[in-house]
Amino acid sequence: MEDIILLKQGEIVLKGQNRRTFEARLMANAKRRLQKFGDFRVYATQSTVYVEPKTKDCDMDGALDAMTKVFGAVTVTRARACEKDKDKIFETAKSYLSEDMRGAKSFKVETKRSDKQFPMTSIEVSQYVGGLLSESFPDTAVDVHEPELIVHVEIRETSAYVYAKPLLGAGGLPVGSNGRAVTLLSGGIDSPVSSYMIARRGIQLIPVHFFSFPYTSEQAKEKVIELARILTDYCGRLTVEIVPFTHIQEEIREKCPEEYFTLIMRRFMMRISEKIAMQNDCRALVTGENLGQVASQTMEALRVTEEPLSLPVLRPLIGMDKSDIISLARKIGTFETSILPYEDCCTVFTPRHPRTKPKLEEVLEVEKVLDVEALEAEAIAGIERLRLDI
Ligand code: ATP
Ligand code: MG
Repeated sequence: MEDIILLKQGEIVLKGQNRRTFEARLMANAKRRLQKFGDFRVYATQSTVYVEPKTKDCDMDGALDAMTKVFGAVTVTRARACEKDKDKIFETAKSYLSEDMRGAKSFKVETKRSDKQFPMTSIEVSQYVGGLLSESFPDTAVDVHEPELIVHVEIRETSAYVYAKPLLGAGGLPVGSNGRAVTLLSGGIDSPVSSYMIARRGIQLIPVHFFSFPYTSEQAKEKVIELARILTDYCGRLTVEIVPFTHIQEEIREKCPEEYFTLIMRRFMMRISEKIAMQNDCRALVTGENLGQVASQTMEALRVTEEPLSLPVLRPLIGMDKSDIISLARKIGTFETSILPYEDCCTVFTPRHPRTKPKLEEVLEVEKVLDVEALEAEAIAGIERLRLDI
């Protein structure tokens, strides 16, 4: 008799008509993520997704951890299986939850019964198990109104299950349930976080990285790939598009006034990203931009940067403080990689006195000296695609 994992669905349950589609997506995503931990059966009833190992050699710890990173589940709980017998259920609760029972001031038992053949009602099971538990843990009082701990008992077809404290799930909506977007992924702290935030809204991402070899090293590229790899825990499989950016940057440096370098470079990034987006049926671009953080992130600069685009630019970090972004980067596990000291293509070509309040007409005038179309076509032709499996 094996333990199971329960995923409680979050916002999905508010989806009305589309609910089944979202639920199916969550199950499919969970199933794919579980593959490397063994053979599991995944099914849903009453806003809960059940993950049941089919064999004894499944890695349940690995599976549990992976399930806390699947968007669409608000809580994730491992439940202990036992025989469908009232005393076996009590014994299991007593041993499996002894630490939780000792740590709580009060508790109650809540029973769900999908096996209607079971000889006791849900209330009878709760009373029976609760009574014996309170004798075994005399310092933990029964409180049916505001208990500190809820002991859950589920009686299902093959077994009974006992569980208590659920783990926090990743929340959000299942990846793929809300379309696709291109995310501009640098090696910095911000863009992995912005990618995570948009993926969490159910968006499947295509990460695009602009790479300026030899001004930026092979290690800088490896760092971005590693960041994308960390994101696959949340986003599922990703294909990173690595765009050669050296020629564009050299042309800008040679032909444009220094104060415009960053702005013109960022316009290239946006236009090329939009082309990749169009080719891949994406509906938006995502960046880690934030108001006021650096010179290219004033409202005037953002206006100049997004001017050539017709797709919307999603900037989930726009109003966040750096400290909040860092906390989130730590939580999702990208921070330590982001702070590795490899140069980013932006830092290599940073002007000493960038324009913070650029005028669009001036930028358009400056940009005229470049053969934008040819440079973009060359960069797109040189794209390297890297598929990261989960
Ligand atoms: P980050 O911490 O994400 O690098 P940043 O604070 O360094 O951001 P900028 O350098 O202005 O800010 O970059 C703003 C955004 O532009 C990044 O968050 C990212 O989305 C995109 N970007 C910058 N450089 C690159 C790059 N080399 N490849 C892809 N996207 C990039
Ligand atoms: Mg950066």
